[in-house]
Formats: sequence, C-alpha cells, structure tokens
Amino acid sequence: MIINIQKLEEGVSSYDIDETAEKLGIDIEDTKFLSKVKCTLDVDNKIERFTVRGKVKTVLETVCARCGKVFKRNIDADFDHKYVKGSFQEDGQIFKEGLDEELLAGAELDLFDDVRQAVLLAASEIAVCSEKCKGICPGCGKNLNKAKCTCEGEDSKPFANLKKLLKEKKKK
Ligand SMILES: [Zn+2]
Ligand SMILES: [Zn+2]
Repeated sequence: MIINIQKLEEGVSSYDIDETAEKLGIDIEDTKFLSKVKCTLDVDNKIERFTVRGKVKTVLETVCARCGKVFKRNIDADFDHKYVKGSFQEDGQIFKEGLDEELLAGAELDLFDDVRQAVLLAASEIAVCSEKCKGICPGCGKNLNKAKCTCEGEDSKPFANLKKLLKEKKKK
C-alpha cells in the first residue's frame, strides 16, 4: 500500500491493512501464518516529519525455542516509525535530524514495508510454547516436559555447574 506523502493531508490519516503474509512479502523460516496480518495504521503528518504508528496482529505457527515443539503463537505488537522528509541542502548534503528517524527522500511511502518490519521484529523475539516449558536436557536430550531426566553425575547437570560457577565468581 503506497501513499503519497505530498498529497497527504496534514494531521492524522488512518489505514487498515488486512493481507496475507505472502502478499506483504513476509517469509520466516520454520514459521507458518495461520491467519492474515491485520494492522491499523495512523500516519501523523507534520510539515517536516511524520510518524507511522501501528498495531499489528496475526497468528503464527512456530517452533518453541526450548523444547522444539510446534505451537500456535499470537502476535500483537505496537510500533512507531518516525520519518523526516528529505531535503537537499545547498552543498548537496541530505538534511536529517534525529538518529531514530528514517529519511524519506521521495514522495512515496510503502506502508507494507512498515508492517513487514513490525511483523519480522515481533516474530524474531524468542518464543516458548509455555512459560513452564522445561525444554530439552542438554545432557540426555530428553524432552523434560514429557520425561524425567536420566542424566547421572554432577557434570551433566547444567544448573549445578552454573551454581558452582556463580559461587566461584563470588569468591573472587
Ligand atoms: Zn516448549
Ligand atoms: Zn538429562
């Protein structure tokens, strides 16, 4: 969805996006989209800068970072992208203020880019199937949600080693 910034009225213009991930050009490894990507966007247009504020929602099927199980994950994220309208100074340099702002040199802004970035960012956060997921034992490889660890000895207990390390650190 491309909007022309020069033709945009001053103030806030709202847009609704309801598209498939495919249409938005989103492709994430080990992740399947179970619903469309819904997004409400407010473009706040000021004279020299504008802000795209959005709320993006979708449902993914992805892999638990702890136990590897495929699970359903709801994405519900807010984002805020700031832009400054580009202008060239007399010496040919592009004028740009704040570091958190992107420069938009042309007149067009693709709102799909903003939505795509927001979904990729939200989906890149580490996700677990449940807060209580115990994960896989690095010693014996068992899924600890389903089976008890059969490891023996201190060395194969990662937390015991960690505690030991922490104690040693404190001594120093
Ligand atoms: Zn898990
Ligand atoms: Zn184990």
